[in-house]
Amino acid sequence: MISKILIANRGEIALRVLRAAKELGIATVAVHSTADADAMHVRLADESVCIGPPPSRESYLNIHQIVAACEITGADAVHPGYGFLSENAKFAEILEAHGITFIGPTAEHIRLMGDKITAKQTAVALGIPVVPGSDGEVTAENVLEVGREIGFPVLIKATAGGGGRGMKVAKTEADLDEAFNTARTEALAAFGNGAVYMEKYLGKPRHIEIQVVGDGEGNAIHLGERDCSLQRRHQKVWEEANSPALTVEQRMNIGQICADAMKKMKYRGAGTIEFLYENGEFYFIEMNTRLQVEHPITEAITNIDLVHEQIRVASGDGLSVTQDEIQFQGHAIECRINAEDPRTFVPSPGTITHFHAPGGLGVRVDSGVYAGYKIPPYYDSLIGKLIVHGRTREECIKRLRRVLDEFVVDGIKTTLPLFQDLVENPDILKGDYDIHWLEKYLAAGT
Ligand code: ADP
Repeated sequence: MISKILIANRGEIALRVLRAAKELGIATVAVHSTADADAMHVRLADESVCIGPPPSRESYLNIHQIVAACEITGADAVHPGYGFLSENAKFAEILEAHGITFIGPTAEHIRLMGDKITAKQTAVALGIPVVPGSDGEVTAENVLEVGREIGFPVLIKATAGGGGRGMKVAKTEADLDEAFNTARTEALAAFGNGAVYMEKYLGKPRHIEIQVVGDGEGNAIHLGERDCSLQRRHQKVWEEANSPALTVEQRMNIGQICADAMKKMKYRGAGTIEFLYENGEFYFIEMNTRLQVEHPITEAITNIDLVHEQIRVASGDGLSVTQDEIQFQGHAIECRINAEDPRTFVPSPGTITHFHAPGGLGVRVDSGVYAGYKIPPYYDSLIGKLIVHGRTREECIKRLRRVLDEFVVDGIKTTLPLFQDLVENPDILKGDYDIHWLEKYLAAGT
């Protein structure tokens, strides 16, 4: 039984977790930096604790302060949200050592999936299809031999990678040395670990990910896929479920493979298995052992609250549904609203002078901002997520057009105008795009 959850995060996701806890009758504790004293999740939580100054390292990433906040308030569980400490195995271990439930997987599973080489080896062992590539790390000695074996173009990737850093393409043998050295240097600078591995570079894939939830006892389900191919610098911008590229049969096949793998692992909590998809084949790239930003589109088409499920399995109550009970209904799209220029993506912090969230059937806005809210410059620029659901993709897009026209955020620049352009674009209307589409579209300046 969990009676009080401390939410170790900020912004929209802190509010999202708070809502789920309240619905389950569980008390909530917000933690915040001095920069976030006026945040919505702080106002709405039953209790709040200031855990430090604005920089994340001194507040939202400060494990000691968070554990102390649990002790002070008597919180018996922590929800880490996404980002910050959500995939930090040490954090999970420390909480466990203090008798506090970490709402997420075991530290062992976080560690296994946090290292891309062990994650890929685990995927292979569990029967998940992977991108052809090196068997473990590549070094200056074997890089050329491995490259020739795989066949060019290849991609050098950091074992500790995240956010697209430490990733370099070598189109031909001639580019290999430079790609290898740059990837290593970048990886060392970003993650303090210069280890890299090699993969076949796929030319025009889509990014398709499967949502899974396990109870830690050997039961696991999948909740279908999300298509997150519309990306800029490896950051997702627009996500949809289901993918316009998959058939029902493909969805159920890959979903089942993932659910079976999670059963074998005895995975606990929510997780996402990410694939590149090209010419009808799926290739595992990584697994995220946490809730994703884009989880609401899955909730929209399945009507299952993923945070409820996370809390249930962390409490030992098991999953609320079986695979057979899950029905995929209609289509959902999420637009990430960032406080950024819609074309250059330069951050635009400042004060929101006017804020009006759209509404109506099939509309969900997850956001912690309000009129008069001052966006602090210390954190990421996501100020809200717009999620629209319709019975068909066509209905969903028509609704999205209407909803985007209603959304008012004044005082700062946001990415809303970009979505107004995208919903009129013929390729988007057809669902005909790959992971490079958005970058090309932005570069063309259309
Ligand atoms: P990170 O953890 O740094 O985000 P990922 O492995 O998830 O790294 O890859 C991020 C993105 O990089 C993918 O969504 C895709 O756009 C691209 N990518 C990764 N692996 C490949 C590959 N083998 N071929 C082509 N593109 C890739």
